[in-house]
Amino acid sequence: MIVEPKIRGFICTTAHPDGCAKHVADQIAVVKSRGPIENAPKRVLVIGSSTGYGLSSRIAAAFGCGASTIGVFFEKEGSEKRTGTAGWYNSAAFEKEAKAAGLYAKSFNGDAFSDEMKEKVIEAIKADLKQVDCVVYSLASPRRQHPKTGEVFKSVLKPIGDPFTNKNLNTTTKVVDEVSIEPASQDDIDQTVAVMGGEDWEMWMDALQEAGVLADGVQTVSYSYIGPEVTWPIYTNGTIGAAKADLETTQKRLDEKLAPLDGKAWVSVNKALVTQASSAIPVVPLYISLLYKVMKAKGTHEDTIEQMDRLFRERLYGKAEPQPDDHGRIRIDDWEMTEDVQSAVDEAWKVVDTGNLEQFADLEGYESSFLRLFGFGLEGVDYGAETDPAIGVPSLGE
Ligand code: NAD
Repeated sequence: MIVEPKIRGFICTTAHPDGCAKHVADQIAVVKSRGPIENAPKRVLVIGSSTGYGLSSRIAAAFGCGASTIGVFFEKEGSEKRTGTAGWYNSAAFEKEAKAAGLYAKSFNGDAFSDEMKEKVIEAIKADLKQVDCVVYSLASPRRQHPKTGEVFKSVLKPIGDPFTNKNLNTTTKVVDEVSIEPASQDDIDQTVAVMGGEDWEMWMDALQEAGVLADGVQTVSYSYIGPEVTWPIYTNGTIGAAKADLETTQKRLDEKLAPLDGKAWVSVNKALVTQASSAIPVVPLYISLLYKVMKAKGTHEDTIEQMDRLFRERLYGKAEPQPDDHGRIRIDDWEMTEDVQSAVDEAWKVVDTGNLEQFADLEGYESSFLRLFGFGLEGVDYGAETDPAIGVPSLGE
């Protein structure tokens, strides 16, 4: 099959197997170019390991730390007629590269929110690794079925209290228009917290701890975002922010539970980047394209792999220590949040419109990052050639 991008709003419905493989290989090259990470964990579980921050975490753990990795994700395999999802091809490529490097890698495809998935992963840890030293929790999902009650929760991106109106970039038409969103109901807030808050992270950690598969000194990390004031009504002070606040409460509880193991739970606040999850958030794509322009000009731009490499190398396991903020959070959004970057983005935000978009926004950077998520636009890939969309993820035996 010859695979081309088919973009529908903020999603691309096709993915290129060879392009995804190149995307993974490029990320591995970034980590390897920085040398091995010392004092590194050797057995790492990544929940949400197929795309975005989770994929980069798995790559940093394997190719920076030399770790055996178990990855959990929810992706679709391809067939002769239809391409699979990018996360499927990323995971296939990751496993191939890990095997070639002599690294253990096992993957699980299915619902991470379920009890069944937790049991399967625990069995694999017991059988193959005995214990894990690090657990990365990087799920981003629009829905969650509660494993005990069967209730299905849906997350929404809405402000809390007042309606919110601000500039918004239509990434398809390249028009800067306005978006207005009505405030969330209490039920919206509760449902979003149930999907993206800390309950499932805690359920994973409880299950792993009860099964005795967490090693002494285990660390666990989950990801959050804060960002600038222009996005606060829709992010930090909105429904998703309520879920992230719940994640922080959970982190403190996990710290207490892990104390007997000398373990530590972290929330790491990461940089705003183009991922499948973030491109769906109103206002955020405009902010990201202004931010990319400013950070690239300053030479401080990072993608998910540079962020995750820095998290493992310098904060979780590095000599520089985690350097938590006043709330105990790791801040690898530090370069995004510097005064000079934020004031430059703020100035641009005030004046940007459809006519001057090219001047202030890194539209090309936004678009190429978005396409790269699905394996398109990568150097060295022959997009005119036939490719096999039905490749399998080796450890899944499909
Ligand atoms: P993403 O969409 O790229 O990745 C989500 C991952 O979760 C994928 O591996 C997917 O397969 C998996 N997943 C979703 N539902 C699942 C389920 N039911 N069972 C198993 N796996 C499932 O998202 P991302 O942007 O990398 O987000 C990861 C985390 O990072 C989120 O907590 C997000 O809030 C946070 N974060 C993102 C940004 C950003 O700008 N993208 C910034 C800071 C923090």
